Amino acid sequence: MTTEFHGLTVDQICEAIDTLTPCMDDFVYVYDLVNDFYYISKLAVKRFCLPSNQFHNVIENHAKFVYPADIPMLQQDLEELVAGKKDFHDLLYRWISVDNDPIWINCRGYVVRHDSKPLYMLGCINEIGARQKADNVSGLLGVTSLKNSFLAEQTTPPDGYLLRLGIDNFKEINEKLGTDYGDLILKRTAECITACLLPGQKLFRAVADEYLIVNFSKRNTEEAIEQYKRIRQTIDTFVKENNYEVIYTISGGILKNEQLCGSSFSDAMKLSEFSLNEAKRHGKNCCYIFCEKDYEKFLRRRLLSQLLKRAVTHDFQGFEAYLQPLVDTDTNTIYGAESLMRFHTEEFGMVSPGEFIPLLEESGLIIPVGKWMLNEALCFCHEIQKIIPDFKISINISYVQVLKSNIIAEILNAVEYYHLPPSTVIIELTESGLVGSDQRITKLWARLKEKGICLALDDFGTGYSNFQYLNELKPDIIKIDRTFTTKAIANDYEFKLLSLMSNMAHSLDLRICVEGVENPSELTRMKELLPDYYQGYYFGRPCPFQEFQENFVN
Ligand code: C2E
Ligand code: CA
Ligand code: CA
Repeated sequence: MTTEFHGLTVDQICEAIDTLTPCMDDFVYVYDLVNDFYYISKLAVKRFCLPSNQFHNVIENHAKFVYPADIPMLQQDLEELVAGKKDFHDLLYRWISVDNDPIWINCRGYVVRHDSKPLYMLGCINEIGARQKADNVSGLLGVTSLKNSFLAEQTTPPDGYLLRLGIDNFKEINEKLGTDYGDLILKRTAECITACLLPGQKLFRAVADEYLIVNFSKRNTEEAIEQYKRIRQTIDTFVKENNYEVIYTISGGILKNEQLCGSSFSDAMKLSEFSLNEAKRHGKNCCYIFCEKDYEKFLRRRLLSQLLKRAVTHDFQGFEAYLQPLVDTDTNTIYGAESLMRFHTEEFGMVSPGEFIPLLEESGLIIPVGKWMLNEALCFCHEIQKIIPDFKISINISYVQVLKSNIIAEILNAVEYYHLPPSTVIIELTESGLVGSDQRITKLWARLKEKGICLALDDFGTGYSNFQYLNELKPDIIKIDRTFTTKAIANDYEFKLLSLMSNMAHSLDLRICVEGVENPSELTRMKELLPDYYQGYYFGRPCPFQEFQENFVN
């Protein structure tokens, strides 16, 4: 079909394009085939790296902003149009944005002819990858609309709040009941939230299973919390009325607009995402109010994680194995050392293991670092044994290493490599990790025992202190944690309890190590328990290998 001349000149069309531009997100254009001239709405220049919104030498100039790989396809299509082989142009290809990214567009247009002679092509360009303004699943407006609304309504001074809501464990609903049912839940949840909106508020679907209430009128965080609670109740009611077909909860992150002063839209989204994540981290089905200090901690954790990763990939630079003396109460001499990990960086100085070990465990980096630590410690022990032959080395092993790496082989190989008598190597595992003990832990325990390696139950007294475990696992040593020791010193009842536990452990033939002895009076009190070993600042603080050798070996 040939489109016949409508009587509009190219100039008139250009004027019409300018008139329509403010009302459109798409880009209307006209391609004057007689004069080889191209005119597109002026907004296109802001989005794509066009030489101008109007130019001659159309095909040649297109090469400047069309993604190179797509040029031949476009040229072929345009040549066919000019040659009159077809009248309709409909092509998916890429233009380059002002930020130099390839952007998928759909370019459509039809050729207008007069007496079969092609005059011009009139058409429109839409960005097909552009984010949806509306979301038909939840029936709400989407992120692009949220951004527009956010930027338009931001007031000075800023009032009100952002409340970001997220369904807890939505993935499970999708997995168990199918995505169609998941979509239904997204829709019903949107309805529940909508029912709780206050005058002047707007609701958007943020991403996947998250929603955002934008409130720019004078309302405070207490009102935000109340609103969150009402939403939670509404969802509870829906769950009940839906005959408990699916039971789910919702979390909320609240952010005062005041805290967003000067932030860009993407920063505002980051902070609201952080707030919602905090609510989920606090156990879900609750809400969290943004707090600058928490955010700083989060940023510190994130930076620290990056530094740990960098250290691992740079030959463990920044990690160090410290040694702390272990004292035998019979002879009052040092019989060994516990190896304790240290990490220091230029940015943070010395970081406490209490802070960085959980990050290593979370990321799995504890596997390479733990292996490195094991080798450092055994190497130190090998050196010390040249002077003190039966010197013992105690190594902390994390459960992540037990569950996710071949730790048994690593320990046995390292012990063999450094020619250490197995009985001089002590492996410490924490009591809390044994609860609900995994087969892999009992297997590790049995294998190491069989090889003659000593086993110590660390942190005893902080968790369940279950004597059943002691009986089943029969560790060689139980280490009484400092928190238990200090409680016992301060409180007679706690002391009696600790005393009874020591007696019981001794009657099971287990040896006891009292940790955290800091001064003579603590030592005097702890002596009453008749422990086998001491460890504490009173005898020596953890220190680098060189220092340990100077102070305790030579
Ligand atoms: P832990 O295994 O219970 O280690 C004993 C902790 O008590 C050490 O803290 C030590 O410095 C501290 N300590 C010793 N004597 C005293 C004292 O008299 N007073 C006080 N207040 N504290 C004392 P540190 O070195 O900060 O290590 C903390 C925890 O980090 C360790 O507790 C252990 O759970 C973990 N950790 C350290 N190094 C490693 C490692 O190489 N691997 C693994 N998986 N965990 C490690
Ligand atoms: Ca320990
Ligand atoms: Ca301990």
